[in-house]
This record gives sequence, C-alpha cells and structure tokens, in this order.
Amino acid sequence: MDLKSKIREIPDFPKEGIGFKDITTLLQEGPAFKEAIDKMAEFCKDRQVDVVVGPEARGFLIGAPLAYSLGAGFVPVRKSGKLPGEVVEATYELEYGNDTLQIHKDAIKPGQKVLVADDLLATGGTVKSTVDLVTELGGEIIGVAFLIELTFLDGRKKLEGHEIFSLLEY
Ligand code: AMP
Repeated sequence: MDLKSKIREIPDFPKEGIGFKDITTLLQEGPAFKEAIDKMAEFCKDRQVDVVVGPEARGFLIGAPLAYSLGAGFVPVRKSGKLPGEVVEATYELEYGNDTLQIHKDAIKPGQKVLVADDLLATGGTVKSTVDLVTELGGEIIGVAFLIELTFLDGRKKLEGHEIFSLLEY
C-alpha cells in the first residue's frame, strides 16, 4: 500500500512555513494503520525489545500498538506534571523557550532493552530527550523508530550512535 498517500499535509500549520504531516488520516484507516505498525515491528522483530518508550502525545499512538505487536511493555514519556509517580526529567530547547519531559523513575530496569518510538523525526529534540531519560535509568537503547522522518531537518545528527529506522522519508 502507498502509505504516504494516506498522510495529509496541511500547509502553514501550526504556523507559517511549516508543512504539517497529519497522520490522523492514516490512523483512521484500519488496513493502513495495521500495515504501518506491522512494518515498524518487522524492523525490530529479532531484537528482543523489553519496553517501547514513546513521548507524548503522538508517540503513544505509534508506540503502544508497536509494543503490543512485539509483546513488549509500553512506557510513556510525558510533559511536566502529568505523571503521578516519582519522575526523572530532561529539559530541551524549543524555538522559543524550553520544554521538560518526564518518565517514571521505576519504569525501566537497568539493562532492559528499549526501543524509542515516535510518529515523526523533525529536529530530533524530543526524541533525544527521551533517549537521555531512558539512558539515565540504565535502559539499553536498541533502536529508535519513526513512522516519518523529515530528512532535510537532519534530526539524525542528534541521535548519533543509535540505530534509526524510519518507515517513510520526506
Ligand atoms: P522534533 O523534536 O523537532 O523532532 O519534533 C517533535 C515532534 O513534533 C514530532 O514527534 C511531531 O509530533 C511534531 N512535529 C514536528 N514537525 C512536524 C511536522 N512537520 N508535521 C507533523 N508533526 C511535526
């Protein structure tokens, strides 16, 4: 199936100059959603993933079904103040200001094999922070998987040393 044709591009959202890749049009079609997750799962089927970690919010939409498909656990990374238990946090720079991501301190045991998953790799800031949180807890990153990679933004640079899989490249 041509999965790219299922992704809608909205120009100038959320602000001028950004071509927003809207994955809701892919998610709402059962066969397209299934094929996307199956293909992402194929990438890590021989790696014995213990836990998939996905950042809020679209990382949940990709990470949770991927974890289910792999028979792995799922751990959410959330914006500051959302997780109820004890957390560790990482702050990263946005175009204007900063944002803080958190993970439950007891969500990953040292040595567990972790796949980080998100919908889209843009500048890489979000996923770099997620990788840092997992590493701080002693998790071993076995790969980073995206539905979409915007290759022209070179977000890969921030993830040097990690194996990256992206299903669709723009
Ligand atoms: P970044 O930290 O720059 O890699 O971007 C993080 C998140 O922002 C991605 O996981 C997407 O959810 C969202 N995002 C950034 N750029 C776009 C885009 N052009 N279209 C859709 N989502 C985007």
